[in-house]
Amino acid sequence: MSTDLTDSRLQSFNPATLELIGSVPEMTEGEVRQAVQRARKTFPSWSALPFHERADQMLAVRDVLMDRARDVGLRISKETGKPLADALVSEVFTSADLIGYYAKHGGRILSDKRVPTGILKTKKAYKTYEPLGVVGIISPWNYPFSLTFSPLVTALFAGNTVVLKGSEFTPLVSEMIAELFAEANVHPGILEVVTGGPATGGYLVSSGLQKIVFTGSTATGKKVMAAAAETLTPVVMELGGKDPMIVCEDADLDRAANAAVWGAFTNCGQVCTSVERVYVTEPVYEEFVEKVVERASEIRIGYEEGGSQFDVGSMTRPQQLATVEEHVADALDKGATVLAGGERRDDLGGHFYEPTVLVGVNHDMKVMSEETFGPLLPIMKVKDEAEAVRMANETRYGLASSVWTTSKSRAHRLVKEINAGGVVINDCLAHFGMPSLPFGGTKESGIGRTHGEEGLLEFVQVKAVLEDRFGPKTELFWYPVPPWLASGLVTAMRLMYRRGLKNKLFPPRR
Ligand code: NAD
Repeated sequence: MSTDLTDSRLQSFNPATLELIGSVPEMTEGEVRQAVQRARKTFPSWSALPFHERADQMLAVRDVLMDRARDVGLRISKETGKPLADALVSEVFTSADLIGYYAKHGGRILSDKRVPTGILKTKKAYKTYEPLGVVGIISPWNYPFSLTFSPLVTALFAGNTVVLKGSEFTPLVSEMIAELFAEANVHPGILEVVTGGPATGGYLVSSGLQKIVFTGSTATGKKVMAAAAETLTPVVMELGGKDPMIVCEDADLDRAANAAVWGAFTNCGQVCTSVERVYVTEPVYEEFVEKVVERASEIRIGYEEGGSQFDVGSMTRPQQLATVEEHVADALDKGATVLAGGERRDDLGGHFYEPTVLVGVNHDMKVMSEETFGPLLPIMKVKDEAEAVRMANETRYGLASSVWTTSKSRAHRLVKEINAGGVVINDCLAHFGMPSLPFGGTKESGIGRTHGEEGLLEFVQVKAVLEDRFGPKTELFWYPVPPWLASGLVTAMRLMYRRGLKNKLFPPRR
């Protein structure tokens, strides 16, 4: 899809057919501020509802989503160019499942928690969680539904109200989210959708939000964070990745090859947790490459509205296709070889590029060092596991990774050695679809988490509560300070906290 910003409207195109499929307004600063104000007005009544009532409303949204699953999948497919099945599996299913997880576990996660009072036996203490206020969500085009819907419902479960801005390349999906909420008849005003490009996103960031959840590129994430710093607005940053896959000599090579091909080419490689580079240990390198090339060459690329005859659709943005071509040209210039694919396919009507397997690659090439976000699968031979780990960690990113081995001890050792927000063993990308697991990155892949307990706790502030239990008229160190307090405290503290002394004075019974 491409956009046209003339007349303050964004036009939306099907990237697989280049047909115009709709348009939305590009909202002004004033319109964004009004949306934030409306969300702020709704916050007291929404946050005052007990958790189970908010959960019930999110389940009502899920009911509508299930009734309209095919329509939603089709809208996603038409605006991104991905096959319908892909949209249903990775966007609609994951979103529905997340609602179920929080409806079941959210009440417990957000309930008050007693904490130990240590030496202060006359006190009671607990933590209580409160919603933040208005949360701003800014999301990308690659999974325009799930990456918007998931932080949206999480923020709402926690009692916040939300203003969201989806990508300017997929605005019709954002509108559909608003339609689902309206059809579910939820508390009015809990969700405001603003449409527009980077400028609209900028207005939202500076509109006095209580939190910003940004999903997008690392470069834009840095700008958003800098702008948020002006108002000390806290952020969750879900950014780019260059996810490694490590294949050890004892791996199930058939499963690993199938996974590499799916993990690199699903959604045309436009996945933050895509298999972006593969390291295979020497003894199985040739066999692995052979299997990957065979499977990659069988992939059916094309677009059929609502149909199932293709595995991989078109890329969503022509700019992304240009990046893919640039990375391939750079790799070929520096000595790499293409074993499958390697060509754009304008003959198919839209922004198509063949699933491409590259070998003879190294870390001087963009394809191994920069996020491609396209259908490329570069494979590199390494001497052993240690070299694979060193290579895997040689990146500014740290979003996800996968390790392939039949040895459990080796797998769990690799988990500890890889610096990333997620490690998947003998599978890939799957952790995003598990709502109980926190999702997010290390290094320049992001800050904070979505999903799981940690993801819900991002949307609340913790309040510390201490209560005196017995109500004496005074405390030991209140005024007037007793003359013996300082010396008595030194002795008492030594007895309590100086290791060894206590044992010497009161030897433990044997
Ligand atoms: P992008 O950074 O270009 O845009 C993301 C969003 O930010 C869009 O809605 C855009 O309008 C908005 N935006 C742009 N400039 C802005 C500004 N100055 N202020 C406020 N908002 C602004 O990213 P993209 O091209 O849409 O998405 C692709 C990137 O997203 C890739 O790098 C990918 O790895 C990353 N991504 C990360 C995750 C994750 O969970 N970590 C998931 C999906 C995609």
